[in-house]
Amino acid sequence: RKGAALLVQVIRFGDHRKMVISRDVSQLEKLETMRRDFVANVSHELRTPLTVVSGFLETVIDAEDDLDGAERNHYLGLALEQASRMQRLINDLLTLSALETGAPSPDEEVFNVGGMVREIARETDALSAGRHTVEVSVDCDCQCAGSAKELHSAFANLASNAVRYTPAGGTVRLRWHLDPDGFGEFCVEDTGIGVAPEHLPRLTERFYRVDRGRSRETGGTGLGLAIVKHVLTRHQCELKVSSTPGVGSTFCVRVPARRIVRCEQASAPSGQ
Ligand code: ADP
Repeated sequence: RKGAALLVQVIRFGDHRKMVISRDVSQLEKLETMRRDFVANVSHELRTPLTVVSGFLETVIDAEDDLDGAERNHYLGLALEQASRMQRLINDLLTLSALETGAPSPDEEVFNVGGMVREIARETDALSAGRHTVEVSVDCDCQCAGSAKELHSAFANLASNAVRYTPAGGTVRLRWHLDPDGFGEFCVEDTGIGVAPEHLPRLTERFYRVDRGRSRETGGTGLGLAIVKHVLTRHQCELKVSSTPGVGSTFCVRVPARRIVRCEQASAPSGQ
């Protein structure tokens, strides 16, 4: 059977030899390796900022009266930044763990997805703080069934990644439209650094990053797309990614027709 393996052990009893065969160890070993990797990753991710916090606090304590107020505040500010990073990581871990229990979305409702996309565009614009051009187009105002809270966080995560991985001066476009087959599609397109093809299949793995340093610099936890993937799976939505290094990326979420309750032509103008 695929994924199964045999563990064959030869045990000696005096002159007798006995062969013990156990099945499916490869699956168990794989799970155990994943668990160990996860614990190692979490420990590493927490240890790094914690070391930095301790370092800054030691500097402040050891300096006694050698630091003036501004210098002291500078070090304490840096320590606080690292503490926030640990907080973000723990929040993401808790979100992921809640999603992984596989419990159904707690708050299924019918909501206006076009309105949600416009709201995310405003949040994205605020996040960019004038460094990018943020554009939005909503082709039709659709009512969608699902957890508005979870889908908002998944869509917003893709938009914030677009900002974080696009150098200043670039463009981030958000679009909601309906396919002829009745599927809804939310896409985030950026003119950012892009992703090489070999990394694309692994982007939604926990802690997988193309460039760890860059992810950290922009406040990433390496868990965003893993959370997005879980939310989308719960809503039977599909994530499609296309990207060209140095040119940009497009992340699209396909929402199945049965989640689209009704649509009408969008009344609000597009653009940001
Ligand atoms: P992170 O917190 O590191 O951003 P994510 O899970 O959100 O974690 O994303 C995983 C990795 O995918 C990122 O570290 C980055 O390498 C890559 N990535 C995600 N979105 C983009 C994007 N829009 N452009 C380029 N790379 C991206």
